[in-house]
Amino acid sequence: MNLIDTHFHLDFYQDHKRWYEYINQHKQYTLCVTNSPGVYYSCKRIYPETKYLKFALGYNPKNVNSERFDKRLFNHLLGETKYIGEVGLDFTGKLKDKQKEQVQIFDYICAAVSNCQILSIHSNHAEKTVLEILMHNRVKKAIMHWYSGDLQTLNELIRNGYYFSINSNMINSPKGQVIIRTIPMDKILIESDGPFTKIYSKRYDPSKLQNTYRQLGEFLKCERIEAMIWNNFNSLLS
Ligand SMILES: [Zn+2]
Repeated sequence: MNLIDTHFHLDFYQDHKRWYEYINQHKQYTLCVTNSPGVYYSCKRIYPETKYLKFALGYNPKNVNSERFDKRLFNHLLGETKYIGEVGLDFTGKLKDKQKEQVQIFDYICAAVSNCQILSIHSNHAEKTVLEILMHNRVKKAIMHWYSGDLQTLNELIRNGYYFSINSNMINSPKGQVIIRTIPMDKILIESDGPFTKIYSKRYDPSKLQNTYRQLGEFLKCERIEAMIWNNFNSLLS
């Protein structure tokens, strides 16, 4: 069964060409998120999408202090992709000063997407507001990426049918473990968030996706973790 990685940053690797080829050769379904419409546009020009590798159109809230949201380009590209991400809110540190602007942008994106588009969502210290915006816009298909908020908001996200992508850093942290145990098995997906995670103390690269699967399988005592993730992702697609 093919492995699936629902949140990966190809453009953050210096040797991105090598990993692009690796992903396709090893048939690892990979959702490459982008941090701005401009990055999405450039990635698509450099690399043709394949059966296994897709790009998501995004605007990372961490960019709010350095790069404005190019609404025109976003609108222009929105119709050509099934995947939106990385998008969301981040209320940590200096990003907090731009809460209002972040909310406006994320709300705009959630209002613009269609029911069949799938969102990969960043929600650092802003989980409740993310949930409110998702509900307000009746967003149907969303994957919470690296969720680290409280259990009450987690349970509300679960009740609303949203999915969660789990990475190796979460599996290896006590807080992450409590979160993973709270999520129903049929809402769990796997992400690498490469290159921002570590696996067995080494920076993540796509040759290590199997290890993330193994770690999560052992943690959940699930022998057929590949099949479980495969089925969950297909339910989200359908
Ligand atoms: Zn990311």
